[in-house]
Amino acid sequence: MCLFCKIVNKEIPANIVLENKNFLAFHDINPKAPVHILTIPKLHVDSFNEVTGETMAGMTAFIQELVKEVEIDTSGYRVISNVGDNGGQEVKHLHFHILGGAKLKWDHFSDADPKDFL
Ligand code: AMP
Repeated sequence: MCLFCKIVNKEIPANIVLENKNFLAFHDINPKAPVHILTIPKLHVDSFNEVTGETMAGMTAFIQELVKEVEIDTSGYRVISNVGDNGGQEVKHLHFHILGGAKLKWDHFSDADPKDFL
């Protein structure tokens, strides 16, 4: 069973922010912003590659509810899902990083030249 499935099953603890029948939101253990919350579907999906439109519709409504709950909806935030090796995905259970609470930098792209990746 994967790490996030264990969190869903309450086999390992997490700092839960919001939960409904199908989705769970909890604080990232290694926050990269003042607000750094992970949202996941409770049913295991490996990554964004496999997720259905139906699950994404539910996820969208869940994230919209979450950002209001933690009061970052008007100040702004970033939604990120890392996919696969090049995307830097460490946990192979679909998750969305919700980052906010401060003006976020775009460091890894600010001085990037596409030619550097060729
Ligand atoms: P990614 O690199 O996109 O797969 O992101 C995985 C995220 O999961 C990282 O930001 C980790 O800090 C976070 N993480 C790993 N283990 C836990 C845990 N037990 N509770 C909360 N967040 C975790």
